[in-house]
Amino acid sequence: MKTPYYLIDKSRLQANMEKIAWLREASGAKSLLALKCFATWSVFDFMAQYMDGSTSSSLYEVKLGYEKFGGETHAYSVAYDDDEIAEVLANSDKIIFNSIGQLDRFDVASAGHTRGLRVNPGVSTSEFDLADPARPFSRLGEHDPAQIAAVADRITGLMFHNNCENDDFDRFADMLTLIEDRFGDTIHRMDWISLGGGIHFTGEGYPLDRLAARLKTLSDTYGVQVYLEPGEAAITGAATLETTVLDTLHNGKNLAIVDSSIEAHMLDLLIYREPAKVAPNTGDHDWMICGKSCLAGDIFGEFKFDAPLKPGDRISFQDAAGYTMVKKNWFNGVKMPGIAIRELDGTITSVRSFDYEDFKSALS
Ligand SMILES: *Cc1c(COP(=O)(O)O)cnc(C)c1O
Repeated sequence: MKTPYYLIDKSRLQANMEKIAWLREASGAKSLLALKCFATWSVFDFMAQYMDGSTSSSLYEVKLGYEKFGGETHAYSVAYDDDEIAEVLANSDKIIFNSIGQLDRFDVASAGHTRGLRVNPGVSTSEFDLADPARPFSRLGEHDPAQIAAVADRITGLMFHNNCENDDFDRFADMLTLIEDRFGDTIHRMDWISLGGGIHFTGEGYPLDRLAARLKTLSDTYGVQVYLEPGEAAITGAATLETTVLDTLHNGKNLAIVDSSIEAHMLDLLIYREPAKVAPNTGDHDWMICGKSCLAGDIFGEFKFDAPLKPGDRISFQDAAGYTMVKKNWFNGVKMPGIAIRELDGTITSVRSFDYEDFKSALS
């Protein structure tokens, strides 16, 4: 197959899925895939064997989840418009409003539907202001316990999303206790609560058994069905971005240009200023791997190799499933990576490729 392409490895995906299924068994908490992180629907049938459904951030995501993932479909959006609401309701089991304003606006339209409200607990684990739902002046959810209690008889659930790649169980547990202290009275009146995403519970060494016990206690204390909305945790480590070296230069450092672009194909690394990952990243030869767009800072990172790089060499960037394919773009007209799947038996199938017509049809 011609590079560039994202390669989803089902056996790596399965390892995450088995942890998710174990957690449900041990805790009763259901997991819904957050499509904003990963919406590559060719593997939804596979993931749906282990997860309970999907959750969304928009009309288009909720439709995709309903159509392709199945199971339970949660609808959430920071704000819905009048011309979206009927379709959102038709494609979801639950709708979670971001504000009391939206609950009021769509009160009549959504009267027969299972409804919830997003609550902003005012604390988070995000290191990045950009991604911190509890940042000052945040628009993400209602924060005042009294105002939330006042609408509690119109909803049956609450959604909290305040973790961000949090791999520290104790920190998660402490924040959950804060949530209980502040909103416990209202949680008692609910049938379900969602704790959102951002909990890195599929990571190496995460104390899954302690998480399961904590979630079970939460569910028993309040008599609620608990939901998790893993995005990154569901697909972490499950794909690579496969690229080929096109050229090399030397300007104080060894430079290799690949047939991809961090800005176009792994945008979050640029936004959060993190390097890509190359394995094993050992050897005596240091190289800076650069993208082929004309953005000066289009750099994947600096890595070690066993031998000098040359045109034609393959570079695989690890951990390329989350927030990559959903954010890829046509900047510089760089060829968009295709999507391929490595099946459990090792065979690789190409499921999507993009060409000039796709580039042209994305604009007019
Ligand atoms: C982003 C988001 C998720 C998924 O977050 P991850 O960090 O990818 O697990 C889940 N729920 C909500 C409401 C979100 O905004």
